[in-house]
Amino acid sequence: MKVSFGTCTDAGVRRELNEDAVLAASPIFAVADGMGGHAAGEVASALAIEKMSSLAGRSDVRPDDVLHALDEANTAILAYERDVAETAGMGTTISGVCLGLVAGSPHWVVFNVGDSRVYRFADGELRQLTVDHSEIAELLAAGRITAEEALVHPLRNVVTRSLGVMPPPVADVWVLPVLARERFLICSDGLPLEVPEDIIAAQLAEDSPAQAVAEVLVSAAVLAGGRDNVSVVVVDVSAPDDAAEADEVTAPRKHLAEQA
Ligand code: MN
Repeated sequence: MKVSFGTCTDAGVRRELNEDAVLAASPIFAVADGMGGHAAGEVASALAIEKMSSLAGRSDVRPDDVLHALDEANTAILAYERDVAETAGMGTTISGVCLGLVAGSPHWVVFNVGDSRVYRFADGELRQLTVDHSEIAELLAAGRITAEEALVHPLRNVVTRSLGVMPPPVADVWVLPVLARERFLICSDGLPLEVPEDIIAAQLAEDSPAQAVAEVLVSAAVLAGGRDNVSVVVVDVSAPDDAAEADEVTAPRKHLAEQA
């Protein structure tokens, strides 16, 4: 099994700072979207990414390990706020995937707190795996607003779950089998805000390297208006039919080390 990835992030056109942060360190990939104003949002997202990066280089990550790292991130943000008064109230979203071991075989552990997203592109189809934790998502689910209204709604920025709160947020976690060929997209809300999903799907369908796809998607969001920070991580997985290489599926550590 071969894992490759690309990342790109941009402050966008309207925001002075980029409070997003990205992580791509096999087997863990994530995007965090910080909030809390000057010199706070980017601290919260960086702390979250730092804690999640404790899973980098491991071949035996279980869903509980991901939840534990999220909990440590929450604690670290709260501790920082206690030490540095002007960061009070900061927080961050976090979404991502981690290639882990479930019942002894490789699986993707998909996780989410907030309104950053994980999509899976496989067999020509784009599917959003995560459920947004936002006021907008609640209104949409309740049928109170349409998808078009959601894009310009005044509550667009209000997340209902984030890291940096007490009691700690409940994180969503999904465990998925590894497909022979698939592509994950992890992004902050600045991407879907500017780029329709059919355009995102068309870019993911391109037979381009993950890094090129990540850069094209971020550029598209900036060119379309860039109203928010925008961050993208693209993760490509392919399992060759070749039997010798297929053996590597049971030895992700060896493979991931080679990637690094
Ligand atoms: Mn954002």
